[in-house]
Formats: sequence, C-alpha cells, structure tokens
Amino acid sequence: MIPFLDMKAIYTELKTELDAAYARVMESGWYVLGREVEAFEAEYAAFCGTEHCIGLANGLEALELVLRAWDLGPGDEVIVPSNTYIATWLAVTAVGATVVPVEPTPAGPNIDPDRIAAAVSPRTRAIMPVHLYGEPADMDAIVALADRRGIKVIEDVAQSQGSKVRGRRAGAIGHAGAHSFFPTKNIGAYGDGGAVTTDDPKLAERLRTLRNYGSRVKYVNLERGYNSRLDELQAAFLRVKLTRLDAWNERRRAVAARYGDRLAGIPGLDLPRAPQWAEPVWHLYVVRTGRRAELAAALDKSGIGSLIHYPIPPHLQQAYADLGLPKGSFPLAESLAETVLSLPMGPHMTPEAIDEVAAVVRKTLS
Ligand SMILES: *Cc1c(COP(=O)(O)O)cnc(C)c1O
Repeated sequence: MIPFLDMKAIYTELKTELDAAYARVMESGWYVLGREVEAFEAEYAAFCGTEHCIGLANGLEALELVLRAWDLGPGDEVIVPSNTYIATWLAVTAVGATVVPVEPTPAGPNIDPDRIAAAVSPRTRAIMPVHLYGEPADMDAIVALADRRGIKVIEDVAQSQGSKVRGRRAGAIGHAGAHSFFPTKNIGAYGDGGAVTTDDPKLAERLRTLRNYGSRVKYVNLERGYNSRLDELQAAFLRVKLTRLDAWNERRRAVAARYGDRLAGIPGLDLPRAPQWAEPVWHLYVVRTGRRAELAAALDKSGIGSLIHYPIPPHLQQAYADLGLPKGSFPLAESLAETVLSLPMGPHMTPEAIDEVAAVVRKTLS
C-alpha cells in the first residue's frame, strides 16, 4: 500500500518535538493569541522575507481578510485563475467583489500574464495569482503589469510555502501573500491555520484588528471584524514544522526528480515541468493523460493512492451557477480538469515506492 500522502510518518518523525510543544502550551494556561503565535509570526515572516506575518484561522480567511482590509466590495473586480481550488474564488465573492477568471498558460497550470493584461478593466482592483501544486506563477510579469496600472497583487500561497521566484519566496513578491496551514499543506498544522505575509505596516495593523472582532484594545471595537485567529497549539506545532520546511521541500524535489526520470518517455503522459525561473516545492506531482480513468483504476487496484486536483473548475460548480459561465467558457481549465492526476507525493516517499508507482503507470499506459 502506498498512501497518497503519509501523514502518520510526518508525526512519527517529529513526535518528540510536537509532544513537547503540546505540553508547553497546555501548561501555559493561555490558548488563543499569545506568545506562541507571536513567535511563529516573527519566525515565519523571517522565513518568507517579509516585515510582517499575521496569524489567522485558515487560508480562505487569509485571502478574504486582505480583500476586506483593502476595502474591496461590490463593483470591484479581482482577476483570479480559471484553474484553481475554489477557495480563491470564494474569498473574492465573500466580500461582494466580482471574479474575473483568466486562463492558465498553455503549459499550465498557472495564470497566464498575457491574458491578465487583456482582462484588466477600469474596475480591476486586484490580481490573485495562485502558485498551484507548489509551482510559482509568473510573478515578475504579474507584478510589473499590476504596478503599471496601480493594481494590488495578493498571492495565494496555500500550495507553495517555501517556493521561490528568482530567489524570492512566494508570499513576499506581491503586496500580500495568503498562506494556509491545513494539515496536508507543505507546512501543515494539526487542525486549521492560516497567515498573511506583507511588508505593508498599514495592511498588517488592519488585519490584526479584523481578525479579532475589529478590536485592538479589549472590548473597544473599531470596526465590524471577524473571529479569525490562529491558536497557540497550532502556532506551537507550526514552529516545529517550520524548522523542517526547507529540508522537507528538498526531499519533495528529490521525489519529483526521480518521478521525472522513471516516468520519462511514456506515450500519452505529460509530466510537470516548472519554468527555468521558478523553484517549485512540489506540493503535488500532477501528470496529465487522456486515459486518466484507466490509470487511476490501475493505481487503485495496486493499492496506490491518487487524487484529482481538481475534477470540476470553479466556473462549472453549482456554487457559481449564477455567474452563467457555461461549459466551454474556459477551455484550458476544463481540459486540465479532465486530464490531471496527482500521484503520491510527500517528504517520506521512499525511492522504492516511487519506482513502484512509476512501474504501474508505465505498464498501464504502454
Ligand atoms: C488549501 C487552499 C486554500 C484554502 O486554505 P484553507 O486553510 O483550507 O482555508 C486556498 N487556496 C488554495 C489554492 C488551496 O489549496
């Protein structure tokens, strides 16, 4: 049996440190917004290379609260990828703004800067590139375009913590980066968690207010805020995980390299290839094939986990039926949804397991 992601192995390797972190918080008698959160915020900001980090309850609210902090709402447009997890779109519509979907580059999976230029209107207030599967979007082109037009850029870093574009970390390139610490992400908590990284002190201060009922001083409410706080236990766990993030991303890189070698030259199978300027962190290893159902069934029969990220693009979800975007509206996103398959990936995958997965793929498609 080869699991899609070995969560148990992650705990086993870090058990001593995680258990110590648990005990430290439990014995402190303080569980929400305290010293662990403050320490994690400082450590994660240093890791990303930003002035500020604000711990929040989850990745979706990290995206949403930034848009709220920028006062985006009805009548404002936000450019989002047509090919993404639905959370990206949900953040935009949650504040009442309009999603303007833009297709990925022909090589995929990330948003195409040339198509962004064509989608910008006088109402465009922000661009929300997603670094999907751990592969950074073309941030240099996106930031250059946004700066020319005075548009904000918020990076969705949920799948790419630690990745780089020409030496700069994802989440430190746009005006803000929204991070998720859902357990399966490259740095995951043991429950929900999220954060925003930014160099903008005004944005940081507004987020600290918004996450805590619109309050900075107890029982004095400056605005109608949220309850979106990172808790002490999750922050303490994340501090342990952060010490391994670069090393574990390196292990993922080795897994991807071995997959690349073992899966080369299989007819009808497209392998992921990151651009030269990108340093991906391989949150997922996503192949493409017209024979996906057959391949997924063969893997399943061999006891190998695989998943589809994602089977239905946001514009075809019932949740967005009211936008009236029928099948055919975003053919690149639709074609990816029909052909992508994620193979097992994680910092604990053994060379033997990789070879076994590759052998099943080769046998099925050859
Ligand atoms: C996981 C994810 C999110 C949302 O994060 P949560 O912490 O689950 O709310 C947002 N965007 C993308 C691309 C994600 O993969």
